[in-house]
Amino acid sequence: MISEVSEGATFGNYVDGETIPSASGKLFAPEDPTIAEPIADVPESDAGDVDDAVAAASDAFESWCELTPLDRGDALREWSQVLRDNLDELARLTTLEVGKPIAASRADVETGIRFVEYYASVAAGKEGRVPDGGADALAYVEEEPYGVTGQILPWNYPLLLLGWKVGAALATGNTCVVKPAEQTPLATIRAAQLSADVLPDGVLNVVNGFGETGAAISGHDDVRKVSFTGSVPVGREVMRSAAADVTPVTLELGGKNPFLVFPDADVGDAAETAAAAGLYNNGQSCDSGTRLLIHEDVEEEFLDAYLDAVSSRTVGDPLDDVEQGPLCHREHWESVKEYIELGREEGATLLAGGGRPVDAPKDGYYVEPTVFGDVDPDMRIATEEVFGPVQFVMTFAEYEEAIDVANGTDYGLASGVFTRDISRAHRAASDLEAGSVWVNHYFGTVPGTPFGGFKQSGIGRECGSDALDEYTQTKSVRIALDR
Ligand code: NAD
Repeated sequence: MISEVSEGATFGNYVDGETIPSASGKLFAPEDPTIAEPIADVPESDAGDVDDAVAAASDAFESWCELTPLDRGDALREWSQVLRDNLDELARLTTLEVGKPIAASRADVETGIRFVEYYASVAAGKEGRVPDGGADALAYVEEEPYGVTGQILPWNYPLLLLGWKVGAALATGNTCVVKPAEQTPLATIRAAQLSADVLPDGVLNVVNGFGETGAAISGHDDVRKVSFTGSVPVGREVMRSAAADVTPVTLELGGKNPFLVFPDADVGDAAETAAAAGLYNNGQSCDSGTRLLIHEDVEEEFLDAYLDAVSSRTVGDPLDDVEQGPLCHREHWESVKEYIELGREEGATLLAGGGRPVDAPKDGYYVEPTVFGDVDPDMRIATEEVFGPVQFVMTFAEYEEAIDVANGTDYGLASGVFTRDISRAHRAASDLEAGSVWVNHYFGTVPGTPFGGFKQSGIGRECGSDALDEYTQTKSVRIALDR
């Protein structure tokens, strides 16, 4: 299968414009979760391999940061074009390694490309400032790149997140050392290899491996900025190791996102959207809307339409035209099944799913779209991130009650609100403790809107011009004038 997709490709580390093995020669093989079989060998890298990649990125920084933003933008647009020319291959690799339906993999790759193009454009407009320095001085503020930056990725949206992070870092004049998740390195390696003719050597490097490889990046003396997307516990580790050199970090962590439906909402639309909010990408999105808080007056109408939408989701081989494939890897699959069992033990009622889809390929890591009712807000399934196709429904009577439950977790990433009352929409947007509030739709991140978390969902922002700020540091210059 892999040879059909990427004939002749070698999935090595990509350092200084070359595809190379790790120094130890050790290999690991990510699995295709649809058939539970290894896909291709990838080098397992240690701290020495990270040193080499950081050294290459450091050498490349000197000339990359001296290009004008327009020239860097041109190079990034050329890279985007090569990625677009190879979209079929990149999307199929994404489906093989993540288990994501092929249409969704195409959307991931396209979105990643759009973000690279977006940053290439907006970075060109990021000009310093000239504040009033007083009558006898000229003051100006420069925005400078950090230098070598490290990007540590999760497995759920490999190329979308590559575009988010690397696009902003490179556009602002930094160079990159990227570590993809061990489960999903292949599309990322290919995307980097496809930069060979359009980006200078050493500007974009990829080293593969497990947590130790990531830790070698986040704790590296010469990595001047770290951007991590992943779980809260690993986010804490990254912050700890970056603290040794006081390296700034951007952390995009988990979510347990509420979705509120008020009695004046278009309930049919809310129900369809709620199913997609929780089940798109098999619920493996940090911003999945999993906690459905429904006003008691519309509970019955909502549940009819919503459970219809859940049960009509098509599940199967992700290379076919389906809405849901397998979960990304075995350990994660076991964890999602344990959460479903836990929900039962905690006394919640299964309203849909809970088992294995009947038509699923037999060895794949599949779980049915699953919905719980009779959930208490303090139950573990109501507060911990399951990261699978598992939602639950709770009802509320009063606005304040809904907001209290919505804000009642340690997370604060995203939220959805369905109402036709404009005042209530604004009030909820203000009261919800979340980095994004989407009213009468869901998954509303577009290139210009910053994305990131309140509370334990993270630090800093991706997307928008905020992402460029994450990758630049200001320098204030004030020159006394001889009057
Ligand atoms: P994870 O935290 O297990 O791993 C993420 C990455 O960190 C992997 O590349 C892993 O190899 C690396 N890593 C592991 N230990 C490390 C260490 N000690 N130091 C440095 N790197 C280390 O997360 P995951 O299972 O890949 O992804 C799922 C999680 O990611 C979920 O919690 C999800 O909500 C979150 N996520 C958040 C966002 C967001 O934008 N907020 C987006 C996608 C996923």
